[in-house]
Amino acid sequence: MDQDWQGVLRGANLRVTAGRLAVLGELAEHPHSGVGELAAAVRARTGSASTQAVYDMLAALHEARIIRRVEPAGRPPRYELQTGDNHHHLLCRSCGAMHDVACAVGHSPCLSPSNDLGFVVDEAEVIYWGLCAQCNEPDERNT
Ligand SMILES: [Zn+2]
Ligand SMILES: [Zn+2]
Repeated sequence: MDQDWQGVLRGANLRVTAGRLAVLGELAEHPHSGVGELAAAVRARTGSASTQAVYDMLAALHEARIIRRVEPAGRPPRYELQTGDNHHHLLCRSCGAMHDVACAVGHSPCLSPSNDLGFVVDEAEVIYWGLCAQCNEPDERNT
């Protein structure tokens, strides 16, 4: 993917580093990656990086709102590029497969709670838990 990550980083006042570019390139190809996969990608492209260094990269990119962090309860966080569409996720309880799903209706309707109690809401996160089609398939081979 030929995205101008250097421009994106500079636009966010972040230093352009090989590690950050590796994270963004990996997320462009593999959305919903975990820290382990991202650390492997960074190491593959830069030679070496501690896990803590990768956490620091992710924190900086997240703070600059270049990437989004999805935190399913009781599971390690996944990361993806911030696309600004406030999409939601389907998550398989069994195999951990994660897929993007658009908001239920129209443009980011989930940004409007029925009562916002005066909050200025800027993000809504919905995870639909269940079993993916593959995990839900009855195993016919053993019957
Ligand atoms: Zn599954
Ligand atoms: Zn996603």
